[in-house]
Amino acid sequence: RFMDKGSRIYIAGHRGLVGSAIVRGLETAGYSSLLLRTRAELDLTDQGAVAEFFAAEKPEFVFLAAAKVGGILANDTYPADFIRENLVMETNVIEASRQADVKRLLFLGSSCIYPKLAPQPMPESCLLTGPLEPTNRAYALAKIAGIEMCWAYNRQYGTRYLAAMPTNLYGPGDNFDLNTSHVLPALMRKTADAVKSSASTVTVWGSGTPRRELLYSDDVAEACLFLMNLDDEKFGTLLVEDVPPLINIGTGEDVTIRELAETVARVLGFAGELVFDSNKPDGTPRKLMDVTRLHGLGWRHRTELEDGIRRTWELVREQL
Ligand code: GDP
Repeated sequence: RFMDKGSRIYIAGHRGLVGSAIVRGLETAGYSSLLLRTRAELDLTDQGAVAEFFAAEKPEFVFLAAAKVGGILANDTYPADFIRENLVMETNVIEASRQADVKRLLFLGSSCIYPKLAPQPMPESCLLTGPLEPTNRAYALAKIAGIEMCWAYNRQYGTRYLAAMPTNLYGPGDNFDLNTSHVLPALMRKTADAVKSSASTVTVWGSGTPRRELLYSDDVAEACLFLMNLDDEKFGTLLVEDVPPLINIGTGEDVTIRELAETVARVLGFAGELVFDSNKPDGTPRKLMDVTRLHGLGWRHRTELEDGIRRTWELVREQL
C-alpha cells in the first residue's frame, strides 16, 4: 500500500456517486484521516477558499471526484454552467494541490471525453482523435482540459497526477428521477412501479439494441484505491511523458438495453412484458471501454451486473 492508514486524504465531491463510494471504501479499509467538506463548508469554485483549505489541512492524497454532472437534457440545456463550473473547480483543486505538495492526485472524469465515433472498445489513445458528441461537449471539454492539466503539471512541476475515466456507473447513491436519470435507475424505478401497481408492461426507450457497459459504484471506488496505492514503479508507468496520464475504469463487457431490462425484471420479480418505445432516442449504439491498461496492472471488477443490480435493489427498494 502506498497510502498509510493515517495519511491525510481529501475526497472532493464526497456526496456524489463516486465520491461517496470512495469514502465507504477508504473507511472499510481502515483509513482514519479523511478530509471531507460539503459544498456549504467549502465552495470549490472559490479559489481563495480552496487555497486556504489546502494550506490549513495539508492533504497528502486527493481524489478529485467533485464535478457538475447530469444527464443528456441537463447537459444540453446548461452547457455554459457545465464548462465553467468544471473548469474552475478542477483548476482550483489542482493548483492548490501543487502548492500543498500533494503526493498523488486522482482526477475523475467519464467516458464521454472520447470521440463520438471512437473505435469500440475505446482505448485511452483515442483521446482527441475526432469530434465529440455535441450534447455533452462542454462537459467533455472541461474534463479533457483537466486531463491536460494533470499532464502539464506533471511535466512542469514533477507532480504525480493521474486521470481515471470510469464507464457508466450505478449503485445505491444513484439518481432515480425518470426525467434526469440514466437507463439503469430508470428501468429499476419503472419496473418497481409496475410490480407495485400490478401493471402488465414496462416501457423501455428506444429499440433495446444499443449496448452499454455498467460498473458498480463500490467497484469503481475499489479501482480508485487500487490506483492510488500502486507502488511507485507501476504508478510511474502511467505517467510517461509523451502519453496523457490517463486510465479507463470499466468491466470491458457490455449488454444490450433489452438484456438490461430483462435482468432488472428478473431481480425485481416482474413477469410482464417489455414494450419498446421507438419514439425515444437510442443514442450512441455502443460505448465500451478498453480496459487492457487496468487489467494489465492486475485489477478486474468484482461485482457482476446481476449481483450489482440485486445489491442496489436491496438498498433502495424502500425509497422507490
Ligand atoms: P447514454 O448512455 O448517454 O445514452 O444515456 P442513458 O443511460 O440515458 O441511455 C442509454 C440507453 O438506454 C439509450 O439507448 C436509451 O434510449 C435507453 N433507455 C431505455 N429506457 C430508458 C429510460 O427509461 N431512461 C433512460 N435514460 N434511458 C433509457
